[in-house]
Amino acid sequence: MQELSPIPLVDLKAQYQSIQSDVENAVTNAMRRGDYILGQDVKEFESKFADYCQTKYAVGCASGTDAIHLACRAAGIGPGDEVIVPAFTFIATALGVSLTGAKVVLVDVDDDTSLMDLDQVEQAITPQTKAIMPVHLYGQCVSASKLKDLANKHNLMIIEDAAQAHGASAPTGERAGSIGDLGCFSFYPGKNLGAYGDGGAIVTNNQDLYEEMLLIRNWGSRIKYVHDCVGLNSRLDTVQAAVLNTKLKHLDQWNLKRREHAQRYDQFLANKQGIRQTKYDDGSVYHLYVLRSENREEILKKLHEAKIMAGIHYPRAIHQHKAYQWLGYTEGQFPISESWARTCFSLPIYPELPEEAIHRVGEIL
Ligand SMILES: *Cc1c(COP(=O)(O)O)cnc(C)c1O
Repeated sequence: MQELSPIPLVDLKAQYQSIQSDVENAVTNAMRRGDYILGQDVKEFESKFADYCQTKYAVGCASGTDAIHLACRAAGIGPGDEVIVPAFTFIATALGVSLTGAKVVLVDVDDDTSLMDLDQVEQAITPQTKAIMPVHLYGQCVSASKLKDLANKHNLMIIEDAAQAHGASAPTGERAGSIGDLGCFSFYPGKNLGAYGDGGAIVTNNQDLYEEMLLIRNWGSRIKYVHDCVGLNSRLDTVQAAVLNTKLKHLDQWNLKRREHAQRYDQFLANKQGIRQTKYDDGSVYHLYVLRSENREEILKKLHEAKIMAGIHYPRAIHQHKAYQWLGYTEGQFPISESWARTCFSLPIYPELPEEAIHRVGEIL
């Protein structure tokens, strides 16, 4: 019998091979130019990425976690303030807030989509609340119209965690990152737009916030050796920006491919007993293709035996991590988040995913 080839959760090498000469030229040019920190490629990428997100400004930084931290800092969020965050997300959403000294306030998520349940946000608002931080989890936008209504009514900022949603759009047309006051992105290699190392960016239409972020990411300095605030060293490397400039041209095409694969999965998985599909809307960019089952462990075992590297995003809700015990939440307090954490699993999805892999997954499930 022929050995089955392994299907990884994401295949970064396949994508590299598809753009190899372009990306190597871009990186070589950057290295030859020698402007390694805040060089030409960073400027070019910030301008193109802002356009792509339909915002006026973009600020490159060192990671998605830093993007969230920087956005909060620029928004004036710090000790004594509260930020409302979904209980089910990658932990960096909460970490970015905690790094400012502000308090993370959790709300449960929607049972069909895994996105922040906006109907629960109102009850979580206190006089200390400064911002709502929706997460466009798995590549699907949180409702832009509901978010704006909430923020306007309570005079709160919206800071989007769009780390999984490059190019996604809300049903009302807004691009991920442009819905709120600030939109945070990660260019971790496995993201829809990924660098060859760490990287991040924040987009905004607000000039004051933009200028504040330029300052904070660069040791609080606009003029060399003149420091106006306690800033960070958090910049996007020129070499990584060169990679991102090459890749940004392909992003829409790659997102389209993800969508096609997701539709194929949908067809194979419709009405499979014991498996629950996640509701995605048409603007989703399918950073992850996620299902739920009470028999998750058994299903994962079968998939792994067939060399299909399915994963779990994520096995714990925020309040279930040791890192956040001190917030004082208890088990059972966010039942929908806990149920996602207990039952969710992710099938391989990436633009270069072979059709044959989708068939294999369909057969096993
Ligand atoms: C990846 C990710 C982050 C953090 O990005 P890094 O670049 O890895 O620091 C934040 N939030 C979400 C939802 C993510 O998926």
